[in-house]
Amino acid sequence: PPPRLMRTFSAPLSGSRDHIDHPRVCSREDFQFGKTLGEGSYSTVKLATSSIDGKQYAIKIINKSHFIRAQKVETAAAERRALLRLRGHPGIVSLHCTFHDESNLYFVIDLAANGDIQSLVSRLGSLSTRCVQYYAAQIADAMEYMHSRDVIHRDLKPENLLLDEAFRLKITDFGTGKVLENGAERATTFVGTAKYQAPELLELIETTKSSDYWAFGCVVYQMIAGRLAFNDRSDYLTWQKVKKVEYEFPNGFDEQAKDLVQRLLVRDPLQRLGAGPPGWDNDANALKSHLFFGSIIWTSLWTDPAPPIE
Ligand code: ATP
Repeated sequence: PPPRLMRTFSAPLSGSRDHIDHPRVCSREDFQFGKTLGEGSYSTVKLATSSIDGKQYAIKIINKSHFIRAQKVETAAAERRALLRLRGHPGIVSLHCTFHDESNLYFVIDLAANGDIQSLVSRLGSLSTRCVQYYAAQIADAMEYMHSRDVIHRDLKPENLLLDEAFRLKITDFGTGKVLENGAERATTFVGTAKYQAPELLELIETTKSSDYWAFGCVVYQMIAGRLAFNDRSDYLTWQKVKKVEYEFPNGFDEQAKDLVQRLLVRDPLQRLGAGPPGWDNDANALKSHLFFGSIIWTSLWTDPAPPIE
């Protein structure tokens, strides 16, 4: 292979500090751009084929003047920081390389060829219990990794849960992600999406890793019920329900899933399942041992084929 290939794409996904702290260098000429995959609030995402390895990627294009005007510099920096720290887990979108030109920043990331969980739930109405077990397990596993690397996502929601070509899950959108430095445990900025925001954010303007478990509970509920756990005519009214943990299960909601959701949508962040420190009876292992995940084989979670989408 040409030396350029060695430099940009063929290094292992984990390795030297240099690799961890800095994405590899590549340039616009290395890619052939294709159709637009989506538009975000501060970026356009395009399909691109690499002339280096022949693979398809998604390239997030962030217009410099727009993002400076919209004060999104910190968003782009936060996203880059979090993605670099999280490279190497199959359940999190990998940042392969970055480059820029006069007008734009370019983030080359894994392509998620099959849309996102929100579109899937909207299209099907709700997901089968087997599918929810599978996707909830993948979210739990990716979250455990993310938190072990001291990153809080802070905006987990079905739109940010993408599906790759094999219908495996990839968490994306770390623009509101927080890398906790020097042993910090909480972040104090009001971010996220009303319907998935935890009570402590509303009351104390504070998020911890546990706030992601609250959002996870909302996502599990939504995948099964086909509707939001907390929703009202305005964000303000939704927040009143969140603060009181006021939600209802529709008839026929899977009993084990119900138990799981009830252990996640808990007011006290310390008591949420999965959020306890290692060794506690609500740590990440306790979450993975919940009966709802009884049929999950954790060791082959990312290599077994996805269940039929239904
Ligand atoms: P926001 O902060 O408003 O969510 P953003 O500017 O951070 O937006 P994204 O949400 O990351 O942008 O991406 C915008 C859209 O592009 C997504 O809704 C999705 O349709 C598409 N998209 C993003 N990442 C990928 C990917 N890796 N593969 C395929 N499509 C993607």
